[in-house]
Amino acid sequence: MLVRKIYMECPLCDKTHEIEERKRIVTTTLKGEKVAYEEHFYFCENADEEENEFETGAMTNANLMNARNAYRVRHGLLTSDEIIDIRENYGLSQVDMARLLGWGEATISRYESKAIQDEAYDTMLRLIKDNPLQALEFLKKNADKFSDTKRQEIRLKMVKKLDSYGREYLTRQTFESEYANYTEPDDSNGFTLLNIDKIEAIISYFAKEVANLYKVKLMKMLWYADAISYRENGFAMSGLIYRHEAMGALPVGHNSLMNLERVHVVEEMSYNFESMFHVHPVEGMDYSVLNEKEKKILDRIISKFKDYKAKDIVDYMHRETAYTKTENGAIIPFSLAKEIKEF
Ligand SMILES: [Zn+2]
Repeated sequence: MLVRKIYMECPLCDKTHEIEERKRIVTTTLKGEKVAYEEHFYFCENADEEENEFETGAMTNANLMNARNAYRVRHGLLTSDEIIDIRENYGLSQVDMARLLGWGEATISRYESKAIQDEAYDTMLRLIKDNPLQALEFLKKNADKFSDTKRQEIRLKMVKKLDSYGREYLTRQTFESEYANYTEPDDSNGFTLLNIDKIEAIISYFAKEVANLYKVKLMKMLWYADAISYRENGFAMSGLIYRHEAMGALPVGHNSLMNLERVHVVEEMSYNFESMFHVHPVEGMDYSVLNEKEKKILDRIISKFKDYKAKDIVDYMHRETAYTKTENGAIIPFSLAKEIKEF
């Protein structure tokens, strides 16, 4: 089948004339299998029938590539163009991409131009395709393959690829990892396992009713939500674990808690240049994860502490048995929440 006509010097008849570029489907054997693929060639009508076809070097390479890609498609493997796309999406060189995956430096270059990848290599390439989080995992794993500067540069490129879903996932993972040692429902978490959806809903619920909600006060209000829920229903609301700290109860992982994508925090500077974390409601928050009983508990806490300054609620909490009976730095057991002051 005719592809196009080109006016060029013909190596078969040594004349410069119009030559046809043609294509046809041929078969070849790759990895012991017959594979059909599209082959391109030039046709000289002046030459004798025995030898009237020729290929340029570039054409031969392209034909071999077609054959390999036909094999790849049949076996559900990434084509060389798809491999190039994955690499370019991250802005990586062939060598850096190979290092990232822990492979020999020439591996990616070979897969893009002349060799068919094994199944295991294909699986790894698919893992990082459209998944910067997985790519970041590989970067962590093979960190020693890069200089510090290079690693930072690549890391930044990957983080930029994260969409909001990816960032949300990453911040949740970080927060969750702080609870990796607390996977059993017991007295430390009020027999409730960490529930991030609920924590985000509780925080936003408080923030929409309390205009000047800052981190210190929020932490106390969270503890009261869990303590009252535990006392009245037999289990805490959020699954947070609290420690006895100078400023009262403070949840494990409170810094990464404030970094969650769906916790809206604005950092402000106080008069003495200390960072203050102002908590705001999140637009479009799903409050259906809270049942009516829980919302009533939150409403009671809001009406009690709405106008308290941070110092007032800290002082108030300092007088709770749960605080006086625990040591500095210790986890506050929910069994002590039973003795919470009435309000
Ligand atoms: Zn010719």
